[in-house]
Amino acid sequence: MPPPPLIAGNWKMHQTPPQAADLAAKILELLPPNPGVEVLLIPPYPCLQTVHEVLQGDPRVALGAQNCHWEDQGAFTGEVSAPMLKAWCQYTLVGHSERRQLFHETDDIVRSKLEAVLRAGMRPVLAVGETAEERRLGQTHAVLARQARAGLLGLPLDQLLTCTVAYEPVWAIGSGAAADPSDIAEATAILREVVEEAASGQAPAVRILYGGSVTADSAAELLGARGVAGALVGGASLKAPEFCGIAAAVSR
Ligand code: PEP
Repeated sequence: MPPPPLIAGNWKMHQTPPQAADLAAKILELLPPNPGVEVLLIPPYPCLQTVHEVLQGDPRVALGAQNCHWEDQGAFTGEVSAPMLKAWCQYTLVGHSERRQLFHETDDIVRSKLEAVLRAGMRPVLAVGETAEERRLGQTHAVLARQARAGLLGLPLDQLLTCTVAYEPVWAIGSGAAADPSDIAEATAILREVVEEAASGQAPAVRILYGGSVTADSAAELLGARGVAGALVGGASLKAPEFCGIAAAVSR
C-alpha cells in the first residue's frame, strides 16, 4: 500500500504562538475525521510547543520544523538542532529555496542537515527546485538531479524510505504562477529516477510533492499530475479553509 498523499503547510516566518494555536485549532476543526491524506503543519520554532499542545497527538496531523542545524549541539548561537526538535516534530524541512538563496545553503549543507534529521529519528522533507534563470537556460533537469542526488544518494534504504522530496520551482513560490501539470510530471519523473538510483534500482515508496502557488482551486489539477503524492503549501497554508480545501481536493 503506498502511503497517503501528504499535504504540508509551511508557515514560514508568520504567526505568533497565540495566532498559531488559533490556526492549528481551526485546521483541526475543518478536517474531516478521516481526511484521506496526511496533514503536516510546519510552524516557526517558537510555535512548535504551542501547536503540539493544540494537536494533542491527533493522528490526522503531524508536526514539522522548517530548518535545523547540521550539528546535534555546540557553540552555534541562535541555531536549533534536530535533537531539540524531536520532542515536538516528526518531520523537518531541509533545502527550502529560501534557505538556499537567502541563507546561502549549499547542496552539502542541505545534505548535512538531512543527515542530522535522520540521526534524530525524524523524517526529512527535502525541497529542490530550479530558479527562473536556470529554467530559461534549459538547466531544470540538471539542477533537480544534482540537488536530489546530493540529498539522497548513499543513504541506507531504511533511511531513504523515511524521506519525502518536494519539487518546488523557485519561480512558482509565492508568485501566484504555478507550474503546468506537464512540467510537474516531468520534474517528478526526474526525481523518481534519482530516488530509484538511491535505492539501487528498487522503487521505494518515497513521496514526491509539488509546491508553488498551490490553492484549493488549483490543487486537484496540479496534484493530479503523474507521480505527485501531495503538496508543500506556503501562503495558502495560513488560511485554514484554503489549506483544508487543498487537503480535501487530493483526499483518497
Ligand atoms: C513554499 O514556500 O514552499 C511555497 C510553496 O509557497 P507558496 O505556496 O506560497 O507558493
